[in-house]
Amino acid sequence: MKVLVIGGGGREHALCWALRQSARVTDVVCAPGNAGIAAIATCIPVLQDDVADMLRVVEQTQPRLVVVGPEVPLAAGIVDALQERGIRTFGPTQAAAQLESSKAFTKDFLQRHNIPTARYRTVHTLDEAHDALQQFSVPIVVKADGLAAGKGVVIAGDHAEAAAAVLDLLPMNGSVVIEEFLEGDELSFFALCDGTHAVAIAAAQDHKRIGEGDTGPNTGGMGAYSTDALLPDDLRAWLLKHVAQPTVDGMRAEGIPFKGILFCGIMMTPAAGLTGESFIGGFAPKVLEFNTRWGDPETQAILLRMETDLLDLVNASIDGTADEISVKMKPGASMCVILASAGYPASAQKGVVIHGLDDNTSAGVEIFHSGTATDEAGETVTAGGRVLGITAQAENLRRAAGKAYDALAAISFQGMQYRRDIGWRALDCERN
Ligand code: ATP
Repeated sequence: MKVLVIGGGGREHALCWALRQSARVTDVVCAPGNAGIAAIATCIPVLQDDVADMLRVVEQTQPRLVVVGPEVPLAAGIVDALQERGIRTFGPTQAAAQLESSKAFTKDFLQRHNIPTARYRTVHTLDEAHDALQQFSVPIVVKADGLAAGKGVVIAGDHAEAAAAVLDLLPMNGSVVIEEFLEGDELSFFALCDGTHAVAIAAAQDHKRIGEGDTGPNTGGMGAYSTDALLPDDLRAWLLKHVAQPTVDGMRAEGIPFKGILFCGIMMTPAAGLTGESFIGGFAPKVLEFNTRWGDPETQAILLRMETDLLDLVNASIDGTADEISVKMKPGASMCVILASAGYPASAQKGVVIHGLDDNTSAGVEIFHSGTATDEAGETVTAGGRVLGITAQAENLRRAAGKAYDALAAISFQGMQYRRDIGWRALDCERN
């Protein structure tokens, strides 16, 4: 079977890699792909925000199945356009993708369905914002309504900073969400949805900040890890019962069934000593956000651990049979460490030759490419802020980290930056 994957980052490299493991997948095409993906799939240039251009690639390649990676094509309505043409496609429709593309839609939805989240108000004018800001104590979270590639959230230390953030975000977005600040550790919980059922896949944690110790500006993600310990059985059951399943039920009840990956960004707010339905193991988990697709770089870490054939997950979501599937992960842990270009996240130095990629193979380690290209001389060069995701799987996180950092030591490019502390909190816990 020929599968077309839309996207061109590390997540899509991992998706292509996992699909290639399936005995039923004979050909993988990726649009646009990157230099690493080109080693395992045919890459075709495409504009990911242009449905007509993506349809051109589908027409040209005639896949049996399309898997959509990033949020931009989902929000542009690629799934609707392909479904109308009778093409099997993995991912939510444009209306269902609002769970990611509109924070105002999502906050109202969560409230309507009693799914735990931070207290909020959506505002459309500066007057409304002025009034709303008085109802929150600092720090205050101000969020752009639409997709902002991780740059639409301001955590303001005082009311003046919050007002300035509203002034900045409102004109571009038309509405802004003002939200209570939540304390705690963040957890990314991934569920497979088929419009009716939600099934747990795994949990991961990512590191968004550029600097070690989680300092400095936000990035697309400098690394991620996934372990069994992140998702004990009782927490898995709680998140399914109180977040993922009610979301699928609510969307279905509202006439916009949700199919695809529901990526639940959860804040584990501390609630020591409290018991009842809203609490689990000393925490009151609350939804920070949803994404309606796999995360990047969480996917690289999760797929390396996944034993279940990715094609089975994709088919179950499309066919409405997710309740028949149980997703199996290799016991232990995995980690993805991102190598980024000089200047990232403010800018990205492109066209820099990457050394040490050849023969860099060891068991349980995969090098997923994010922003890479092949130059005229045939060299693999940097082509974006995040360049490579060195991903390793092992029986525990310490060993996974050791393997990832060992593999990384052989790779270099001018200005290369990476964090040496991916997974530090979990590694501390594992040691104790
Ligand atoms: P991304 O694209 O990176 O997923 P986003 O633009 O969709 O980000 P959110 O995920 O809602 O925005 O928020 C980004 C980050 O801001 C969160 O991961 C979290 O660290 C922080 N954040 C968001 N909302 C809150 C909140 N209510 N309290 C505390 N921190 C928050």
